[in-house]
Amino acid sequence: MGLQQLQTAGLPDTTRATDVEHLLCWALERSSTWLRTWPEHELSATEQQRLDSALQRRAGGEPVAHITGHRGFWSLDLETDASTLIPRPDTETLVEAVLEEVPARPLTLTDLGTGTGAIALALARERPQWTVQGTDRSLAAVQLATRNARRNELTRVQFLCSDWCAALAPHSQDVLVSNPPYIRADDPHLQQGDLRFEPASALVAEEDGLADLKRIAQQGRAVLRAGGWLFLEHGYDQADDVALLLIDAGYEQLQRRRDLGGHVRVTWGRRPQRITVNPA
Ligand code: GLN
Repeated sequence: MGLQQLQTAGLPDTTRATDVEHLLCWALERSSTWLRTWPEHELSATEQQRLDSALQRRAGGEPVAHITGHRGFWSLDLETDASTLIPRPDTETLVEAVLEEVPARPLTLTDLGTGTGAIALALARERPQWTVQGTDRSLAAVQLATRNARRNELTRVQFLCSDWCAALAPHSQDVLVSNPPYIRADDPHLQQGDLRFEPASALVAEEDGLADLKRIAQQGRAVLRAGGWLFLEHGYDQADDVALLLIDAGYEQLQRRRDLGGHVRVTWGRRPQRITVNPA
């Protein structure tokens, strides 16, 4: 069979073309450039079998990243599995905000709830002078992120088990970043698309989705050095709530950034600088 006659019934309409491309690359173990160069390629029996089973799983709703076992993020190729959130393009907004705001001098940065390691590894790639680590409460996530550091030749990034800031020393960090769970437990999106296959622990938070954002803001204040930054990704309708909880937790100089869809999805603030009083 030629590539033009693929059976794609049951695939979601909105992502059909890219889904087929990713699954074909996976079944053929080839790049998308190769596929475009050889559109008349005849599939071998083994390739056909791999593709059929992949298309069937996708038609059953399984995320492409779970079928192929990897996903691109920033300039990285990340191994993915069912233990963590699949990296999303939205989260590149957070990476961009950090790169624009934080000076490129040597400093320490921790990605809280790192999952695949996406944010930590993207920032480490762009800023070799930063000491970057990632934490996650889930051991499976820490192991996955560690494999992703090796896969992308960024082994200087360390990953450790920690419930948010629990394992971090007071005043040890210049920058904290996080894409925590922030979806409300009753949000209907949880029953749709890829979200059905991702761990609820990476998606859902109490208090209308704000509980973990609040915890991170409170714990983060003690872990940050004076003048340090906290960057938070949040839902499209949570910007004002997140700004308030950052102010309540004692952060200053709040700023925000919109995603490609025009929604404010990243908010950040700074731990106040120490005030030095001149002796009289
Ligand atoms: N942005 C993701 C979504 O809405 C959720 C990610 C998260 O909860 N951190 O699909």
